[in-house]
Amino acid sequence: MQRAAREESDGQNGTERTDPTDPSDLHGSRVLRRPRPLCYDGAHIAVKGVTTMIALIIHGGAGKWPENKHARAKAGCEAARDAAYRLLQNGASALDAVEEALRILEDDPLFNAGTGSHPNAAGEIEMDAIIVDGSGCRFGAVAAIQKVQHPISVARRVMDATPHCLLAGCGGTQFAHEQGFPEYRTELLRTADSASPSQDTVGAVALDSQGRIAAATSTGGTANKLPGRVGDSPIFGCGAYANGLAGASATGVGEDLMRVMMARSVVDAACVDPDPSRAARHGVRLLDEIHGTGGIICLRREGAVGFACNTPAMAVAFIDGQGTRASFVKA
Ligand code: ASP
Repeated sequence: MQRAAREESDGQNGTERTDPTDPSDLHGSRVLRRPRPLCYDGAHIAVKGVTTMIALIIHGGAGKWPENKHARAKAGCEAARDAAYRLLQNGASALDAVEEALRILEDDPLFNAGTGSHPNAAGEIEMDAIIVDGSGCRFGAVAAIQKVQHPISVARRVMDATPHCLLAGCGGTQFAHEQGFPEYRTELLRTADSASPSQDTVGAVALDSQGRIAAATSTGGTANKLPGRVGDSPIFGCGAYANGLAGASATGVGEDLMRVMMARSVVDAACVDPDPSRAARHGVRLLDEIHGTGGIICLRREGAVGFACNTPAMAVAFIDGQGTRASFVKA
């Protein structure tokens, strides 16, 4: 094909396009008029327009999950899923849905987030969380914050009420308290379950009726971590990522997940592959290549969901765009 003709058919000539699948709309805006990246060609569905489809996938962490905790893990993920799904059914935003799901999981001492957070090597609780608005390329995050009940809501407040994306340590904790999040006693965060750390990080990805995708992740981090250690969870593109086409939330060893930019890698794969399970497996293969450990959930804008892990188990619950619901601890 002649160069000029090829540029014309690839949409690479820099002129404004009206194609609704134009990936320059990845973040719901036509302001970014870039040439179409070839990697997205023809592989995704329309970005614009209202859809009646809603979908939600939740994880309760990839890790060991001993047999005697499977039923509770499933029930906990289902409770969060069902509450968040009800919000979506009532027209709530994907952001509100993932925040609500994670608030419920942060209150469940079975999970390593909020109340069930693992203590660090100094016996203190330091928590990380992120919330991502895929339709606006926005996120808010907190790292190593203490003495709050719902780190995910503090992350949301960082996104909504500050010019910043990530607040860490004392500053993040102080911001939370100044914003009216009550001081939550650290002892309350220590539970019988967090003393035997088999459970894991929590995350959610949702699609709302406006076609927007949001992703969120919250964690107490790895057990016995050094004070001040921050994992993948609050890092954009590592612990969570979303755009106009897909979203993902990761779990596992943060040091490994950061090295492969797990959530971004999986969302990129999901943008060119209609099967989000395959995109999730792609992320796990990247982890395998560096002998890393973890798992991921993924959702695409047409309501398909997928997940994968290379850990002994991972707790998952979802309702996809067809209304198919499931929950299990994948072992
Ligand atoms: N990714 C989290 C971290 O490294 C832990 C987990 O997912 O279990 O902080």
